[in-house]
Amino acid sequence: MATTDRQATTLALAHALSAAERGLAVIPLSRTKLPALRSPHRDAPEPVGPPCHGECGRFGHGVYDASTDPLRIRELFAAAPWATGYGIACGLPPHHLIGVDLDTKSGTDSSAALRELALRHLFTIPETVVVLTPSGGRHLWLTGPPDVVVPNSAGRLAPGIDIRGAGGYLVGPGSRTAHGAYAAAPGTAHLAPAVCPPALLRLLLPPPRATHPAATTTTDHGRGLVQFVLTAHAGQRNTRLFWAACRAYENGLGPALLDPLVEAAVHTGLSEREARATIASAARMTGRRA
Ligand SMILES: [Zn+2]
Repeated sequence: MATTDRQATTLALAHALSAAERGLAVIPLSRTKLPALRSPHRDAPEPVGPPCHGECGRFGHGVYDASTDPLRIRELFAAAPWATGYGIACGLPPHHLIGVDLDTKSGTDSSAALRELALRHLFTIPETVVVLTPSGGRHLWLTGPPDVVVPNSAGRLAPGIDIRGAGGYLVGPGSRTAHGAYAAAPGTAHLAPAVCPPALLRLLLPPPRATHPAATTTTDHGRGLVQFVLTAHAGQRNTRLFWAACRAYENGLGPALLDPLVEAAVHTGLSEREARATIASAARMTGRRA
C-alpha cells in the first residue's frame, strides 16, 4: 500500500509538472481531493485584517500556493509526500481557466442540462479538454477573458452543474483519490482549453446586482439589447432578436422593451408579425409571459 501511494505521488507530481509546463498553476492534493498541505495558521486565533494568502512565506494556503514554477512545485510535493493528486487553480493568467463540472451525483443528467442551456442561450460547447472523474462525471476546461472574474458556483446554472472559477481548483488528470483516478477523455488531452462562448460566460457571471436597479442601468442595459438587434445582419436577425428578448425577460425588462425590440427588428427587415412571434417564444422560454 505504501509503495502504491508513493507511486501515486510520483505520478501526480509528474502530471502536475506537465500541467505547469502548459501554464497551469498547481498544488498537491490529498486522497480526499483537498489541498494536501494544511494551513500554518490553523491553530492561530482569527487574524485581525485580511487572511494570509501566503504572505507569511510558508506553504498551506490552499489554492494560493499554486504555482507553475517546477522548483516550487517540487518543494510543495516534497512537503506533502502523502499527496496523490494535484489541483489546477482556476481564474489565473495566462489561461483564466473556468471549469464546468458536470456531476452525476445529483441523479440529474447534467450533460443534458448543459445541452439544453446551450440551445436556449444559443451557444455551442467547443471542443476542449475533458477530464473524466471516478464517479462518472466530466470536467470541461474553458478559458475566460483576463478582465472578468468568474465566481465559483454550485448548481446555479442547472442542477448538477458546478462552476470552478476564481479561487477554485480542478482535480487534474492523472490524480488519484479515495474514489479512483481522474483521466483526460480520449482525444482531448492534447487540446488547448477552448475559449468560453460569450453567451455561456454571461450565464456564469453574477446576475446584475439590485432588485431595484437604478433607472440608468436598466435603460443602458435595454439600449444595449436594442442596439444588438439593430446591428444584426440578414442571417442573424431572428437569432439576435431571440437572444436579446431572452435577456430582456430574464432581467425583468421584457414588457418595457417589447416595443423597442419589435421596432428594432422591423428596422433590420423582419416583419412585425415575425418579430412579435420571436419575442413571444423568448418570453415562453424564459418562463415569462409576453
Ligand atoms: Zn500564511
